[in-house]
Amino acid sequence: MRYISTRGQAPVRDFAGVLLAGLAEDGGLYVPESWPSLSEADIRALRGLPYPELAARVMLPYVGDCISYDTLLRIAREAYADFGSPAVVPLVQLGTDIWTMELFHGPTLAFKDMAMQLLGRLFDHVLTERDERVTIVGATSGDTGSAAIEAFANRARADIVILHPDGRTSEVQRRQMTTVHAPNLRNLAVAGTFDDCQDLVKAMFADVPFRAQMRLSAINSINWARILGQIPYYVAACLALGAPEREIDVAVPTGNFGNVLAAYAAKRMGLPIGRLIVATNRNDILYRFLTARDMSVSGVEPSLSPSMDIQVSSNFERLLFEIQGRNPALTAETMTAFRRTGRMEVSEADWQKATALFGAYRLDDNETLAAIAGLYAKSGYLACPHSVIGIEAARAQVRAGTPVVAMATAHPAKFPDAIEQAVGFRPPLPAHLADLYERNEAYTRVPAELSAIEAEVRATVLRNAA
Ligand SMILES: *Cc1c(COP(=O)(O)O)cnc(C)c1O
Repeated sequence: MRYISTRGQAPVRDFAGVLLAGLAEDGGLYVPESWPSLSEADIRALRGLPYPELAARVMLPYVGDCISYDTLLRIAREAYADFGSPAVVPLVQLGTDIWTMELFHGPTLAFKDMAMQLLGRLFDHVLTERDERVTIVGATSGDTGSAAIEAFANRARADIVILHPDGRTSEVQRRQMTTVHAPNLRNLAVAGTFDDCQDLVKAMFADVPFRAQMRLSAINSINWARILGQIPYYVAACLALGAPEREIDVAVPTGNFGNVLAAYAAKRMGLPIGRLIVATNRNDILYRFLTARDMSVSGVEPSLSPSMDIQVSSNFERLLFEIQGRNPALTAETMTAFRRTGRMEVSEADWQKATALFGAYRLDDNETLAAIAGLYAKSGYLACPHSVIGIEAARAQVRAGTPVVAMATAHPAKFPDAIEQAVGFRPPLPAHLADLYERNEAYTRVPAELSAIEAEVRATVLRNAA
């Protein structure tokens, strides 16, 4: 399998190449040169497999010759061994035709673990073969940082430095990062906002000599392997509800468009997925695009579902590339104009290609609280403020007779304040995190200055190279 950039000016790479590269040099995102396809017989042959085996089989065509099936299977088994559910991704029925798939049974209680647990092991494998080391640097507003830390702490071939905005993450989120102790990990609490953290990471990557010397590598959601690790659970949902004979719809709480893009990939592979419903909070740029062809940037407003508080969904570029007919020059031109004007211009015909596939739904904070309370009163099911938006979207747009699966992206205990506001109590953390508030924290406070951050990265790398 070869991977090409959505903007057409970066080298074609194999899977290991895109894993380590992250973003393409031309500013584009890597996508598979063609979508692997599964016949109805291929889909039937996947029925009843344990999740890790299903995942390895679904991912194999994307990995190509880079990693053997046996290695991929070992990696998938290790990645999901410690999940808090034997099904890994249990499916729960909430009503006639309404289902939710819980993607939050990993170590950090959010769906980011689904791909990140694979990523840490894939990096280790590829870097061991090449006898190389890398330094993972990332900025986080919460969930991505902890998932990356759980995946990369104590890995032999990587150092990891995560920047979070000092005092601006939830306490659960901060403690999930700062109570992990490993020689290859550094947590930096930056005196600034999440945007400052992200700008500092971008500046570090733009410092070419530093980037090369430290062998910086990115594991944010533009890395193709993050999308890949999310495709298998859509296949699992289809199989559980009758694939290949029966179609399902999916509803996905969306921020950077990575999770729902994995659903699109599963559909392109031949899985019987009908509509993909994009569920957003009041930061509703995708909702506006899909309902009114209005993709214009406005300021991010904080909400009760912070992991969906985004301005520009970076993975949308991969869908744009598809709906514009895989024309890299047009994608590059559209994205450049979007950056300049703050408004994405897509032709009526291409927009209709998107709306034929994707539905959209949005809830503001008050509606989110009411939905959490209503669902709990009716069924005793407690959903986090992100997941509940997907569940409401599923209820609102269900087609009678077609099951719709809402992806549950985080455990409710990760957002105790919002849950308490909605239902009057704080949900307990699962057993493996029950003592989170008693654990020792380790992090370094730094000013929002490139030189200070680079000095910390260098110190971490030098310590471990010695
Ligand atoms: C990251 C995240 C999302 C958004 O997922 P995208 O792939 O960025 O669209 C939704 N919910 C939770 C809890 C998350 O952590």
